[in-house]
Amino acid sequence: MNIDGYPRFKLGHWPTPLEPMNRLRQTLKAPALFIKRDDCSGLATGGSKARKLEFLIGDALTRGADTVVTHGAVQSNHVRQTAAAAALAGLRCEALLEARVDAAPHEYASSGNVFLDRLLGATLHEVPGGTVMDEALEQLAARLRRDGRKPYIIPGGGSNALGSLGYVECVRELQRQCAEMGLKRPHLVHATGSAGTQAGLLAGIHALGLGWPVTGFSVRAPRHAQESKVHALALLVLDQLGVGPDLAREKVVADDGFVGAGYGLPTPAMLEAVRLLARTEGVLMDPVYTGKGMAGMISMLRAKTFDSDEDVIFVHTGGSAALFAYRWAFEELT
Ligand SMILES: *Cc1c(COP(=O)(O)O)cnc(C)c1O
Repeated sequence: MNIDGYPRFKLGHWPTPLEPMNRLRQTLKAPALFIKRDDCSGLATGGSKARKLEFLIGDALTRGADTVVTHGAVQSNHVRQTAAAAALAGLRCEALLEARVDAAPHEYASSGNVFLDRLLGATLHEVPGGTVMDEALEQLAARLRRDGRKPYIIPGGGSNALGSLGYVECVRELQRQCAEMGLKRPHLVHATGSAGTQAGLLAGIHALGLGWPVTGFSVRAPRHAQESKVHALALLVLDQLGVGPDLAREKVVADDGFVGAGYGLPTPAMLEAVRLLARTEGVLMDPVYTGKGMAGMISMLRAKTFDSDEDVIFVHTGGSAALFAYRWAFEELT
């Protein structure tokens, strides 16, 4: 597979640790339980986008861009890490923020990731919920070009075939770490949104012939739509790797049972998962992504859905910076 041929700009601290979660395992009376700490990837409080951005910023620099443009929700972790990556690479960053979560308190629009975006020097443009973001992004890039700038477009979540290579790289790390730690039957669990994480994981597992199952928990789209999106992107990633795009559709699992009322809206199961991980492992989940993914994994562990000899690995994709914008959701703590 061809991955090392792509230009890359180093942004993160690799490999991120793979660690046991013993206290959570005991609490849930679960079989082997591990966590892949992509929340410790470095880059402005860490998270999954650092992996994708290494390839995307590498490409932007190769093409002579002077600005990166991207989009996300108001509390986007992707925008925060893109702003940091741009700072490190000496590029400017302009981002469209979609007001996707209605009726959130003031701190939602001013604290957490938004505060960090501004601190990191990004220029932010707020647009109403329901805006067709890809079109709005093209318009922003066109405006910058008219002003003589050289924008490079990074899609939402960094989730195109190139960015998703970051999660093929994550599979290579995990393959080494699982061998060192003697994990024989890894089963990966994570939160899925713009689909690049899951597409990269599935493509990497397929390309390396590992056969590991992956369970995604959707944070927004219904199951069928999310699985189709992940599958289509995984085929593009395999093509990018020069591997035959023959990944079976059935390998893509994106459970939508933990979304709740919608993207970024708190659920009781998310709040329980965030509290439980903080108090058993000292690990910070986030309210939008990993809290919901972890809620899904906890429910599978309670229902004994995993095989007893599986090594369950939660891929912690980051997001804890958003906790500060969601303090209101943890009523007993405010
Ligand atoms: C972006 C993000 C995800 C989802 O990854 P996708 O590649 O967009 O599916 C999960 N967790 C966190 C914390 C994220 O920021």
